[in-house]
Amino acid sequence: MSGSVPPSSIAAFVAGYENDRTLRGWRCGACGAVTATWGLACSRCGAQRLEGTRLEPTGTIVAGTVVAVASDEFVNDAPYGYVLVDVDGGGRLSGWVPGVREAREIRAGRRVRFRPSYKPGIQFELLEPGP
Ligand SMILES: [Zn+2]
Repeated sequence: MSGSVPPSSIAAFVAGYENDRTLRGWRCGACGAVTATWGLACSRCGAQRLEGTRLEPTGTIVAGTVVAVASDEFVNDAPYGYVLVDVDGGGRLSGWVPGVREAREIRAGRRVRFRPSYKPGIQFELLEPGP
């Protein structure tokens, strides 16, 4: 098999958080870097040795915004937070946090945990009390 054949797929990633209740990512067999972003090669060292791995369920918000006008799937959830999360142990994911009304609730540095849900997308919950 060629080294450029992807070790996994977007479908497998989505199936992971929707069905298996785990976040899947990839670990570089050469340098150990962990990513949540699918690719043919490691973004750190360029090696084409990415292997499927399980991401940690916890992480830290690096950016976030409040969504007040939602798509049909989320219309009953608005407003909610849309966040970018650095996952503990490696990987960066975007997801959403239900029940958020103000941006300060999802400020950078706050801790979150992946919360499996029947809703689409990757749902997180805040780990500390609100502001
Ligand atoms: Zn690497």
